[in-house]
Order: sequence, then C-alpha cells, then structure tokens
Amino acid sequence: MPAQGALLKLEGSPVAEALYAELHAQLAGLTFVPRLHVVRLGEDPASVSYVRLKDRQAKKLGLQSEVTVLPESTSQGELLALIHQLNADQNVDGILVQFPVPKHISPKTVLEAIRPDKDVDGLHPINVGRLWSGEECLESCTPAGVMRLLNHYGFSVAGKEVVIVGRSNLVGKPLAALMLRSDATVTLAHSKTPDLVAVTRRADILVAAAGRAGLIKSSMVRPGAVVVDVGVNRVGEKLVGDVDPGVAHVAGALSPVPGGVGPMTVAMLLSNTVKAAIRRRDASAMV
Ligand code: NAD
Repeated sequence: MPAQGALLKLEGSPVAEALYAELHAQLAGLTFVPRLHVVRLGEDPASVSYVRLKDRQAKKLGLQSEVTVLPESTSQGELLALIHQLNADQNVDGILVQFPVPKHISPKTVLEAIRPDKDVDGLHPINVGRLWSGEECLESCTPAGVMRLLNHYGFSVAGKEVVIVGRSNLVGKPLAALMLRSDATVTLAHSKTPDLVAVTRRADILVAAAGRAGLIKSSMVRPGAVVVDVGVNRVGEKLVGDVDPGVAHVAGALSPVPGGVGPMTVAMLLSNTVKAAIRRRDASAMV
C-alpha cells in the first residue's frame, strides 16, 4: 500500500495509451482489420457521447468501426433482427448495444441474443459464467479496466482486503470475480449493507461503484487505502464520482472522475474487439 500522506492519482489515460500501443503492435501482425459494430437506440445524451467516444477511439486505433442509430421506438423484434444479422456477418468481430435500452426492450433478451464470441461487452451469460469459473472469456470492460489500472500502478490485489460498493451485473459482480481470480479477499457491499462504514474501513482496496455522488466519505476510508472511483454522476453541469473530494486527504491512491476508470472502459472494449477477432478467425490469418 502507498505511504500515507502522499496521494497517488490513478489517471486512466496513460494506462489506456499503453494498452493502445500494445494493440497497435498486435494489429500490425494481422492480415485483417477487426470490425466493431455499435448499436444505439434513441438520443439519450450520455449514450450519444459514449458511442461517439467508442467509435472515434476505435477508428483512431485503426479498427473498422460502424454505428447504427435506431429510433427510440424501434421494437425489440427489429433490434433482435439486426443483432442476428450482425451475428451472421463474417466481417463483424464485435457487437455492442449501448445501454440503457428503451423501457419496452428487455436488456436480458438483448444480451442473450448477441453471439458470445462477438460479445465485446462481456455481458452474455456464457461469458459471465466462464468468468466466474476462471475460464478464458471476453471480460466485462469496466471491471477489466479497473484491474488493469491497479496493475499498471503496481498494486497487486493478491491477499488484500478488497471491498466493492455496488453489486450490479455490469460492474460489482464481474469485478468481484476478477478480484477473486487474482487472489483478493472480496466483500461486495450494497444498498442493504447495514453498517457500510465498518465494511469499507476494512478495505486495503476500496472500489466505489454505486452511482451515488459523494457516497464514500473520508471517515469510510482506512488511511492509506487505494480507492478506485467507478461512479459517474451528473451534478449540475459537472461529472463527479461516488467518492467525496475529502477522501483525497486520507487515501493513499485515488482515481479521478472523469479521467480514471472511464478511459479504461473504452480501451478494454477495443482490446476485447481485437481479442474476439483473432479468436474467431483462422490462425492462418496471422502473419
Ligand atoms: P447500478 O445502479 O446498476 O448499481 C448500483 C449498485 O450500487 C447497486 O448494487 C446498489 O445496491 C448499490 N448502491 C446504491 N446505493 C447505495 C448506497 N447508498 N450504499 C451502498 N450501495 C449502494 O449501477 P452500475 O451500472 O453498476 O453503475 C454504478 C456506477 O458506475 C454509476 O455511476 C455508473 O455511471 C458508473 N459506471 C461507470 C463506468 C465507467 O466507465 N466509468 C462504467 C459503468 C458504470
């Protein structure tokens, strides 16, 4: 753990750039260009900006990237028909449907419709099951990004007390699986945890993924702990995390919002796209 008093800022951009450099080298050794296809429904401003970022970053890396924008009124059947078409398209390596989807569409049905070997978000039950079984799979992007962020800054989780606040299928649960695989002792806390302070204060590594601005106060953090803030909350015009700014005076390391986990999520998505493309194609496609 870092020395108390000197806060280390866990910036995501340099870590993402290092990963892009690795992917760039990997792409140079391929005879094909992996292709990502993102589907967005409606005009939710956050989704518009996330999809734009993913598309722009994919192209910058040198991948093929396509975005299909469908109206909010698109029926589940129409969306599923598009997914089936993308599943069957030999030129498409990665499929991502940007969440949240409109209320009349079942997220579960959408996730289950995507071919597991093109599921670059790592959310298909097959990938989730493989993750928990410790098998090779496409890993959920944000949790994988958190692991890479910690690793880059030299923090091993093996034997450490890790507390994750938030138990969603998107972040908390898959992150717990990755932490366990790396030999951490993991606690998943959530909205029904009675004494959250007592639990979070145990943590050598504390991950906040609740989506509640300022939930994690300095009194909840063990001095010198490593704190990763996954939360993204809009407060007025500002984006803030789940961690109160006062935590910076107590923690040994802290990831900023924005600029911490966010860039890692996009980088892991593109890493998954390259991985999916290589695994799905014939080994002879490698030079
Ligand atoms: P979610 O709403 O699905 O789950 C939130 C979890 O937090 C739940 O398990 C709930 O029990 C727990 N929780 C809520 N209030 C709590 C409280 N007061 N005390 C303890 N636990 C509480 O959210 P999600 O999809 O997992 O996302 C969590 C946050 O992470 C959101 O802010 C989201 O925007 C952000 N996020 C960021 C990225 C990124 O790339 N940076 C990616 C995904 C999600």
